[in-house]
Amino acid sequence: MNTVAILGAGVTGLVAAYRLQRLGVPTTVYEAADRPGGVVQTFQRDGYLAEAGPNTLLETSPRIRQLLIDLNLDDEILPSDPDATKRYLVRDGHPSPLPDTLPGWLKTDLFSLTAKLRVLGDLVQPRCAPDYEEDLAQFVVRRLGREFLDRAINPFVAGVYAGDPQQLSVREAFPRLHAVEQKYGSLLLGQMLGARERRRRGEVPRASAPKLSFRNGLGTLGTTLQQALGDEVELNTAVTGVRRTSEGWEVTSTCQQRTTTHRHRGLLLAAPAHRLAQLHWESPDHSSLAWLDKIQYAPVTALVLGFRREDVSHPLDGFGVLVPAVEKLPILGAIFNSSLFPNRAPDGHITLTCYLGGTRDPQLALAPYAEQLESTLGALRSLLGVHGTPTFIHHTVHTRGIPQYNLGFGQFRDRMRTLEESNPGLVFAGHFRNGISLSDCVIAGDDAGWKLAGIERPDFNTPKE
Ligand SMILES: Cc1cc2nc3c(=O)[nH]c(=O)nc-3n(C[C@H](O)[C@H](O)[C@H](O)COP(=O)(O)OP(=O)(O)OC[C@H]3O[C@@H](n4cnc5c(N)ncnc54)[C@H](O)[C@@H]3O)c2cc1C
Repeated sequence: MNTVAILGAGVTGLVAAYRLQRLGVPTTVYEAADRPGGVVQTFQRDGYLAEAGPNTLLETSPRIRQLLIDLNLDDEILPSDPDATKRYLVRDGHPSPLPDTLPGWLKTDLFSLTAKLRVLGDLVQPRCAPDYEEDLAQFVVRRLGREFLDRAINPFVAGVYAGDPQQLSVREAFPRLHAVEQKYGSLLLGQMLGARERRRRGEVPRASAPKLSFRNGLGTLGTTLQQALGDEVELNTAVTGVRRTSEGWEVTSTCQQRTTTHRHRGLLLAAPAHRLAQLHWESPDHSSLAWLDKIQYAPVTALVLGFRREDVSHPLDGFGVLVPAVEKLPILGAIFNSSLFPNRAPDGHITLTCYLGGTRDPQLALAPYAEQLESTLGALRSLLGVHGTPTFIHHTVHTRGIPQYNLGFGQFRDRMRTLEESNPGLVFAGHFRNGISLSDCVIAGDDAGWKLAGIERPDFNTPKE
């Protein structure tokens, strides 16, 4: 009865359980699958290493490094190759590096002269009314122009959310952009003036945050957390129902066709929204979780391909390539894994992770494997000069892959907050609430742990007098 129940041993649930363990609070982590980590999953075969889900963990906060140190993972960390920072964007069928200096911006042929001049219009555009909810496309066209939306933001959003700028809410999906416009009245000014404040808070902007993995891939994070938690993690155990009682929570789960019910003092809901929506939920206020099924998820396929180095003519000297929708190519983009991290492919070989589908082309994300492979190889031939057949293939379909913080998403966050307020000991955390990146999930899990322990988290970033 003293334990906290955690639904889902994805990164959010595991980090929360680990924080609770360190604060002396026992947990039971219920996990439906036969392994920890959720979307984070690494495969190793024939000298190749493939990630089925995320490829990099962004170190956006010192709290992430601290967690890895606490887990004794310092020696396992692989920082991404500092020379592999170039991001390619496709224009007229050819990848060109996105410039990162002012002279580079002036010279690049990724954007027309008109588009470059239009970006400066950001300095004089008025702010949007603070309570007006705008979609990302509208916001970018208003501040930076149409071409910047189609050529830069559209592929960026495909790379992060596998999403659609015309549906994503600026306020919900990109709260920092919204806040910068409100505070500085200009994104360009905010970029310069906000840097000092971020440094003071110890935060690192996503674009320049160090990118990490581990020697044996990101799966190391899930397995290490599971080991630290020992028998607190119950694999192959799907929660089917939750009942609120006067003392806490009764959680009913099924493991190997055996159904059991256990009592807990607190409850963290860290499984995907559509899975939580299926729970049989009983509470005195007759609330339900069925509405969580309305949170849209983008389907995505991750296709990891290995090739002989000589079969790829592109130098692969960067992070990867992103494809704007206007280019009408079948892939959303590709990560140059073996350029980012060592030991991702045997000597003389490389790996690429290609993403297909998203809200741009949901049918392709769910299309037959042979069709996906053929489309991807066609795109790689034209974009990166890939010839020859793959020496390695790993294919993962995420039918409900990435939650979309679309217009109106705030109502879901409001409902979660209201339920938490009326049900002490209940916390919602994970990619469907706190941000979709792995680093967001690490921070959200850690915050949830402190909250469920009823202890205020010390602010490690407050400068000492
Ligand atoms: C293809 C892809 C690529 C990505 N790439 C990146 C990247 O490079 N960098 C980055 O920062 N982020 C990336 N992300 C996002 C990031 O990986 C996820 O948002 C994050 O891992 C989600 O973690 P989570 O713990 O919130 O949820 P999940 O990982 O979904 O974990 C939830 C867990 O709940 C379990 N569960 C479900 N139902 C039940 C039940 N009834 N009872 C018990 N357990 C249940 C599930 O089995 C699962 O293990 C990517 C996501 C995808 C899909």
